[in-house]
Amino acid sequence: MPTGVYLSVPFCRSKCSYCNFASGVFSQSQFARYVERACAEFANAQSMAQTHGAQLDSGVDTVYLGGGTPTTLAPEDLCRLFAHMRQSFAIAPAAEITVECAPGTLDEAVLAALVASGVNRISFGVQSFVDREAAAVGRLHTRDVTLADIARLRAAGITNINLDLIAGLPHQTAESWEFSVSEVIETGVPHVSVYMLEVDEDSRLGREVMAGGTRYHAHFVPDDAMTIDFYEVACQRLNAAGIAQYEISNFARPGFESRHNLKYWTRQPYLGVGVDAHSMLGAEGGEAVRIAKPDTLDGFLYPTPLMPPVVTRVSRAQALEERFFLGLRLNQGVSPAELEREFGAEAMGPQRAVVARCVAEGLLEEFAERVRLTPRGRLVSNEVFERFLE
Ligand code: SF4
Repeated sequence: MPTGVYLSVPFCRSKCSYCNFASGVFSQSQFARYVERACAEFANAQSMAQTHGAQLDSGVDTVYLGGGTPTTLAPEDLCRLFAHMRQSFAIAPAAEITVECAPGTLDEAVLAALVASGVNRISFGVQSFVDREAAAVGRLHTRDVTLADIARLRAAGITNINLDLIAGLPHQTAESWEFSVSEVIETGVPHVSVYMLEVDEDSRLGREVMAGGTRYHAHFVPDDAMTIDFYEVACQRLNAAGIAQYEISNFARPGFESRHNLKYWTRQPYLGVGVDAHSMLGAEGGEAVRIAKPDTLDGFLYPTPLMPPVVTRVSRAQALEERFFLGLRLNQGVSPAELEREFGAEAMGPQRAVVARCVAEGLLEEFAERVRLTPRGRLVSNEVFERFLE
């Protein structure tokens, strides 16, 4: 089965206050070393897979550069990464090749490098079309810059564009959210992602909200009920505009669903390279192997036997659990009958009981011999997924 290749590029121009990714502002002197290490990992991917008893198909049909902000790299570094990737893998001519981008980082040379490297999909971290909201969380772009970048991408022939929005940013109101959602629809892009602000220990803004403080505009963060309202408004508006929800946070016009991200939710094999990157590959004589790379820049740049990747062999029982909690993220849900044919009635017994309880509580619904989250279930999806774990 063809592989999806993910490369994380952890470099950003500034650190957004809500960000909980392994990314940050690093000296440019680290960039060349990072690219060199990533190219070496592409070249060593087959032997790495063998070491861990994993199968790696060198045929690739999706590539995703995320992070971080890959477009902070120099154009020649981007070209080098793609050239080395193509030396190590057979990238299909029709492969989906996505690069995440912060509006304002797409200068002419970077855009030319992306086009020359075969990139055909761009994912923009917009978060808000209201300049004050974007600035409050440390984003460096404005609405005008985003719109100008979209126009330049289209002029360069890249029309498969995703825009990210975040519901629950400081200063957001029902009116300002309505404006951002309308602007997204107005651009005519074929893919939109809508995330609800995560308030947790892993970001500066999250910690400040939890502490009840005022730094990072934390006291202007809408409450949970408002954020849920914003998310529901986005679902309604995007669906009505023909950008149909296909996953908890993702919406697309027909045929523009993210092929790379669908691999995660349907458990197709993918290789992750770079800081905090994860792989899931088929295993010799078993279900699958998950491999997690070090989550610090130094850990990736200067690997030592003291910081090996974390390798987890996925058992058959765990594979069944994953089929539920990943598959249920999708609006198409999962088919218990199909899973029973694949894993057997005995293994499915406890899972069928969980499904029945969730249906009775209005968290899941049955349709056409499949089962999927209800709109209410989507709002508490992590709680629903936990029920499928042993
Ligand atoms: S640009 Fe993205 S990865 Fe970088 S700090 Fe902001 S949210 Fe995090």
